[in-house]
Amino acid sequence: MLERIRIVLIGTSHPGNIGAAARAMKTMGLEQLALVAPRGEGINPEAIARASGADDILERATLHDTLEPALTDCQWVVGASARSRHLPWPLCSPREFSARLPGEMQGQDSTVALVFGREDKGLTNEELQRCHTHVHIPTSADYSSLNLAAAVQVLAYECRQAWLTTQASTADALPGSAYPFGVEWDNPLANHADTERFFEHLERTLIDIGFHDPANPRQLMARLRRLYMRSRMDVMELNMLRGILTRVERLQDGNGKPADQDDASR
Ligand code: SAH
Repeated sequence: MLERIRIVLIGTSHPGNIGAAARAMKTMGLEQLALVAPRGEGINPEAIARASGADDILERATLHDTLEPALTDCQWVVGASARSRHLPWPLCSPREFSARLPGEMQGQDSTVALVFGREDKGLTNEELQRCHTHVHIPTSADYSSLNLAAAVQVLAYECRQAWLTTQASTADALPGSAYPFGVEWDNPLANHADTERFFEHLERTLIDIGFHDPANPRQLMARLRRLYMRSRMDVMELNMLRGILTRVERLQDGNGKPADQDDASR
C-alpha cells in the first residue's frame, strides 16, 4: 500500500525542503516522490544533504513540467492546503484522511497522490480543483502554515498509521467494510487522466450549446468539477457521460438522428 502513495511537490523553491521531504517520506516507508516544476535548483547537494540517507528517494524522484503527468494514473488525489479557499471543497483532517486511505486503495490497482504547494503561495485554485479532497493539518489559528517538509512528515505519518491499521486488522476486518463505498465495486474508479478528458469534453459541449460563456465563466466549471469529483465516478459512469456529451454534440451539429447510432457505451 505505502509503495502506491505518491508525494507530489509543486514549484518547490528550496532544494533543502525537497531533501527534508524525502527524509520524512523514508521514515514512514513512502517511496514515490514527484517534483513538478521546482523553482530552485531542484535536487542539488543541499537537497541530498538534507535527505540525510534518503537519497534513494531523490534518485528515483520523477520530474515533470506540469501537474498533469504526475497525476495521470491516480484514482484519488488529495491536496494539502494550509488555508480555506473561496469555493468550499470536500475537506478532511489528517486522521480522517488516514481512516479513508485503506479503503481508497483496496480493490483498486490505484495510486494515491498527496499534493503539496509552494512555500510562498501554496497551491493555486486550479491545482486545488484537480483534487478529490483537501486535507488541512489543524494548527494554531494565528499561524496555519507549516514548513513544507513538516507538512509532508505529518501526512506521511498518517499514511503509515493507516497501513499499520490494515496490518493489524486484516484478519478480523468486516468483509468489504474498507471499500470506498462500503461494498466491493463493479468497475474500477476513473483515474485522473480520464477524468480530465471528461471535463474538457464537458466544457467544450457546454460552450457549444451556449450554456457556458468562457468570457464570463463565473465558477461554473469549478462547481461542476466539485460535483463530479465528489461522486468518484467509475469508468463505466464516465463513459456513459461522455456518450451523452457526444450525442448532445451531434444534435447541436444538426446530425443527431438516428439516435441508435451513437457510440455511448451502455
Ligand atoms: N503560504 C502558503 C503555505 C505554503 S506551505 C499558503 O498560504 O498557502 C507549503 C505547503 O505545505 C502548502 O502548499 C501545503 O501543501 C503544505 N502545508 C503547510 N501547512 C499546511 C497545513 N496546515 N495543512 C495542510 N498542508 C499544509
